[in-house]
Amino acid sequence: MICDSLKKIKKEIGKDVQLIAVSKTKPVEAIQTAYDCEQRDFGENKVQEMLEKYEHLPKDIHWHMIGHLQRNKVKYIAPFVHLIHGVDNAKLLKEIDKQAQKNNRIIKVLLQIKIAKEETKFGMNKIDLEAILNEYQNKTYPNIKIVGFMGMATNTQNHEQVAQEFSNLHKLLLSYQKKFPELTILSMGMSGDYKIAIAQGSNMVRIGSAIFGARDYQNI
Ligand SMILES: *Cc1c(COP(=O)(O)O)cnc(C)c1O
Repeated sequence: MICDSLKKIKKEIGKDVQLIAVSKTKPVEAIQTAYDCEQRDFGENKVQEMLEKYEHLPKDIHWHMIGHLQRNKVKYIAPFVHLIHGVDNAKLLKEIDKQAQKNNRIIKVLLQIKIAKEETKFGMNKIDLEAILNEYQNKTYPNIKIVGFMGMATNTQNHEQVAQEFSNLHKLLLSYQKKFPELTILSMGMSGDYKIAIAQGSNMVRIGSAIFGARDYQNI
């Protein structure tokens, strides 16, 4: 069931789009099943849950932190996290840089940009983005590599609106790529909207329920 869904989605999205299997709230066994089906990249949104799963599962898994990360918890995942998707402020970036240094590694991050009209979504605006990329260029975060942007569209049935929001983020990334060629990843698209996201330039999708089935509780 999990393996069939994985294969189907991988075929749909093609080789140029990376699939992050969002395993939040799902047990270790479900992740192991996906692993046995060759999936290596998994997304979690809670530090404690990611830690427990990291300890119990094969060490060649790439763990993606996709949720809102609190500064005081960065230290727990800093030794092993593969990519942090939701970075939306300079203080968090500073803490990630500090913990990366302590662990003698470079941590890759995506800057989360606010593209949805909804007020509840996290993410920075263009002014904050400009400021952070300026600091980054001035080597303020030597142990961080910013590799792209992440965004979440409005939760609506209006496909044109969702497509427009994704398209805006794609354009924003393209506009910065001359100055920052290492900005290559565009993480956008979930179970409900990944096809729209890919049509608008996404090359990394974060898919949970379409692989593992519905979650018992909504854990956003
Ligand atoms: C839960 C979550 C997803 C996956 O959601 P599905 O609708 O189950 O595919 C993707 N991105 C983020 C940031 C999430 O919190």
